[in-house]
Amino acid sequence: MNTPRFVFHADRCTGCEACAVGCWMENRAVQTLPWRKVHTFNPHRRPDLPVFHLSLACHHCAHPACLENCPAGAYRRDPVTGAVIIHADACLGCRYCTWACPHDAPRFSAALGTVEKCTFCSSRLAEGRVPACVARCPVDALGIEPRDGGPATVTPAGFHGWELEPGIRFEGEAAAPRFASRPDPGPIARVLTSLLTVPEPRITLRGEWTLVVFTTLLAVLTARMAAGGNLGPPALFLGAGAAAMLLSAAHLGRPERAWRAVLNLRSSWLSREILLASGFLGLSAGVFAGLVPAWAAALTGFAALFAVDRVYRVALKVPPFNLHSGHALLNGLYLAGILEGNAYVAAGAGGVKLFLYVYRKVHFARRGRGVRPALSVARMAAGFLAPALAGPAWAAAGVVLGDLLDRCEYYDELEIPTPAAALAEAAGR
Ligand code: SF4
Ligand code: SF4
Ligand code: SF4
Repeated sequence: MNTPRFVFHADRCTGCEACAVGCWMENRAVQTLPWRKVHTFNPHRRPDLPVFHLSLACHHCAHPACLENCPAGAYRRDPVTGAVIIHADACLGCRYCTWACPHDAPRFSAALGTVEKCTFCSSRLAEGRVPACVARCPVDALGIEPRDGGPATVTPAGFHGWELEPGIRFEGEAAAPRFASRPDPGPIARVLTSLLTVPEPRITLRGEWTLVVFTTLLAVLTARMAAGGNLGPPALFLGAGAAAMLLSAAHLGRPERAWRAVLNLRSSWLSREILLASGFLGLSAGVFAGLVPAWAAALTGFAALFAVDRVYRVALKVPPFNLHSGHALLNGLYLAGILEGNAYVAAGAGGVKLFLYVYRKVHFARRGRGVRPALSVARMAAGFLAPALAGPAWAAAGVVLGDLLDRCEYYDELEIPTPAAALAEAAGR
């Protein structure tokens, strides 16, 4: 069935935001945040840059990252209109879809504890009417057309994620200005532009610190299980695991729906992470009861750490490897090698982490991005020097502290591609 898609004429759009107002008027009974946003390139009107606008909402992609990654199965596609619809009563407020969507369409409503987004006005479409945003545009910049109405030929600055096959086609050269012949504005203008247009980061260490503790504790407990020997008091081990799980649920908008997090094992790494982490804890209890071999629990723990790293693949951008020294699996392997006194595992995982850490810092320094020298010295001393020089107990403590610092940097460096960030980057080129 040939469902509709948006068509946007950048040469016609004046940035009046009537589309966004029309969306609000239509959906204000259920909308707490804007579902359609008008982005402006060069909002401070630098004379050496063009000015154009992009009116963006959800594009009801053919391969929707939101639907595939949502652990709760809260997204469905409407078979009649092709709209990708979120069912708020199934959303647990984990915000993973807001990380996965490169178009910044799903918005987390702190008021509701759930995510909301554009519905493609599917009830209007089903009645043969155009969406409210299209109806309100006074200059015909926004329209709809059949999805097979020809290939998209214009890629505006600030728009990416074509691999999802978004249901939008752009027209108008205004949205794709040629930058090659643009004179360099000079260092002062460049710095001012980047300061004035810096977009709000989607993931912050302050907002996600509970996940830092969860992933670090999971790595420590897995390493402890893998190293074998005396695991210490069951209450301490299992209590730490339970605390980690509770902390991971603490950042949910609707924690009472946490059970829904394992409903999309078919395509969501977040579902797999939660199932494997829970399985690790259950098997660990079996180890203490003498019913399960420790290797089975340790293997499940490492699988959970692998899943943790896969969850963040939508956000981590550290070229050229997209590997980070603070990855949870590497942390678990390194600590397991240290605790077990296995020089091969410790040197192998530690060597990879050290290489990735130094490489990243050099890469950041070359690109003018902050490298935090004091933190780097503390991280290197605790995580790499202490294990090489100190006794086993101090070595393990140093590794945990070093990896915790690295994990904090990991969260601070996660980058979500958004239209606003891409537009700001293009304006600063
Ligand atoms: S634009 Fe984003 S929210 Fe909309 S269908 Fe595509 S991935 Fe999902
Ligand atoms: S459960 Fe998470 S991923 Fe799914 S819709 Fe809600 S916030 Fe988005
Ligand atoms: S299609 Fe409807 S819900 Fe989506 S942005 Fe337009 S008016 Fe809003």
